[in-house]
Amino acid sequence: MNIVILSRNKDLYSTQRLVEEGERRNHLVEVIDPLECDLIIEKEKPTVSHNDKYLDYVDAIIPRIGASVTYYGCAVVRQFEMMNVFSTVSSDAIIRSRDKLRSFQHLSKAGVDMPKTVFTNYSFDVEKVISHVGGTPVVIKLLEGTQGIGVVLAETKNAAESVLEAFNGLEARALVQEYIAEAKGSDLRALIVDNQVVGGMKRQGKEGEFRSNLHRGGTYTYHKLNEEEIKLALKAAQKLKLPICGVDILQSNRGPLIMEINSTPGLEGIEGASKKNIAQAIITYIERNRHS
Ligand code: ADP
Ligand code: MG
Repeated sequence: MNIVILSRNKDLYSTQRLVEEGERRNHLVEVIDPLECDLIIEKEKPTVSHNDKYLDYVDAIIPRIGASVTYYGCAVVRQFEMMNVFSTVSSDAIIRSRDKLRSFQHLSKAGVDMPKTVFTNYSFDVEKVISHVGGTPVVIKLLEGTQGIGVVLAETKNAAESVLEAFNGLEARALVQEYIAEAKGSDLRALIVDNQVVGGMKRQGKEGEFRSNLHRGGTYTYHKLNEEEIKLALKAAQKLKLPICGVDILQSNRGPLIMEINSTPGLEGIEGASKKNIAQAIITYIERNRHS
């Protein structure tokens, strides 16, 4: 099979592992930067051109589209979809999952539990906003943030007011969320491939840090997910139509809560912590599901 990994960086652990496992199964695997692709749109013959060649021989793509290039990256994925090329994730599902607010709205309807969250149109009535989520402390999150940047813990009403005023002043949209103190700076990640949980880990923020992100100095260890956590992760992934994804979960006193879903999950932490060959599971998923 000709497999193309749409990634801006050949040297990333995740990209390299997918190349390695694809080649081990005798596939031809190329890494192509989606930003270097031109999309040629015409009646009945949509194509993608990259440097001097047309990518009309591709059987499957693995999109690894970074948050900063969602628009163009997803246009490239969509073009391959128009060419009937199998993709491990649909362009629509990537776009939907990038919007935290939209994802939360859909998950709440599906009966998936999450930290109580409020979104307002730059409301200055901070007291009311905070009371909706049950009082301080609250977590305030920029809608467009990743890697823990733009996620703030406001311990008091005054702190929450200052942060919201600053974000409002910049016209930066933010969510206000119930703070799950009992998670103690940790969260769980469930890695899903082919609608099954294939790996789990626990991430712990460095001392004095409530954010567990590895980019913020967090560390990870193996975690065997329990049945309730697995059920929740699978339900969320299914609802957002992501057969392959990373689901982040907070352990709260009322049970596991969904915090975030990532359509381009990194493989390094999770393969290391869970000792599972997740890159291979992704290649197997393509072999099983590609349209013939
Ligand atoms: P990002 O997209 O930047 O990773 P997240 O929503 O995942 O943003 O938040 C970053 C980190 O902050 C999480 O990994 C978690 O450790 C912590 N966190 C986020 N929301 C909450 C919350 N409501 N209660 C407790 N901790 C939280
Ligand atoms: Mg996160």
